[in-house]
Amino acid sequence: MVDSILGKLRGHVGEAKSRAQADKREREQAGQGDKSVILTKREVQGEWDASRVLMTTIGGAQRPITANDLAQFRHNMRMAQSNFKGDGITARQVIDLASSKPMPGAGPDTDIDRARKQINMAIPVSAANNEVRFITNAGPDSDVNRHHVLVKFNAFSAAVNKLMSAKSKDSKTPKQTANWLRKQKLAFDCDCGRHRYWFRYIATIGNFNAGRDELGFPKIRNPNLKGVACKHVLRVMSEIDTSTTVLNFLTKHMEKVHASADNTARHQMRQAEADKAAEKQAARKRTIKTSEQRVQERARVQERNALKTAAKKVKRVKVKPVGTRKIEAALKSGKLAESDLEVLRRFGVTDKQIADKLGV
Ligand SMILES: [Zn+2]
Repeated sequence: MVDSILGKLRGHVGEAKSRAQADKREREQAGQGDKSVILTKREVQGEWDASRVLMTTIGGAQRPITANDLAQFRHNMRMAQSNFKGDGITARQVIDLASSKPMPGAGPDTDIDRARKQINMAIPVSAANNEVRFITNAGPDSDVNRHHVLVKFNAFSAAVNKLMSAKSKDSKTPKQTANWLRKQKLAFDCDCGRHRYWFRYIATIGNFNAGRDELGFPKIRNPNLKGVACKHVLRVMSEIDTSTTVLNFLTKHMEKVHASADNTARHQMRQAEADKAAEKQAARKRTIKTSEQRVQERARVQERNALKTAAKKVKRVKVKPVGTRKIEAALKSGKLAESDLEVLRRFGVTDKQIADKLGV
């Protein structure tokens, strides 16, 4: 058998956690000492030491930050925050925002384009209560061969409570609940550099961050706070939103919760099952559809159906019974008088009988 394109599932939680810990350590070090180049929360709020020289790329070229920039940063924060409401974000919202407000802007190189082209695999491999771990392939320029995306389903408790009122033998409800849960709000985290330096700050201030909070403003990489998620997260969101792999995985998790005595559960995919799902995904050309594209598609289908129905109607009108057509011909040629026809019809003689009598 060929090597798993997904990599070994055994130890995947440990690998994800050790990457998160390394990231945390590096971030703590970067925030320490006088030489730190992190623009802190309080500095953005205006507690700015003018002697401190930090750089930004806002407006184009890299240059030292001024007090005016801080006001602009706060404005950008409010603008970004206005895209998000409440706690969490839905999978569909992530896709839509990545498409409508991309980073670095329009063009072939947005995160959603990269997700479509480069990330062809995102498998839910393990779940512990509200947390589901996904593994995705890495892009062509990556120094690792897979990424870990952590998703926290914010409505997990609500889903669990819904299940409590269902009979324990009821097999339909876990699936319905899983399907409901995947459309609700969530939080996410990815172990890649793009998430770390461009998007973790946005996820933090937008209340959909599932990893460590980032309070240092991305003054170099993303001062305008554009975009919302890396290509790995976008592929995962698309899977959550639409794939049967995710639905089946969440259904099994919900079945375990349903059967448990204390409303907790863990679920893990088997290696063979995950490999099969990964191979299937990788072999298929998969798109990531925004809400707008879905609406357009639905409209196209409706239009097509309407045309078909109209065409059928036209056909039905055109094809009259043989008798009726013969009578019309007889009327036209003068073989039959309009008044005679009226009398015959009034006495209940059918068009077929009239036509037979006419001998046409
Ligand atoms: Zn990522």
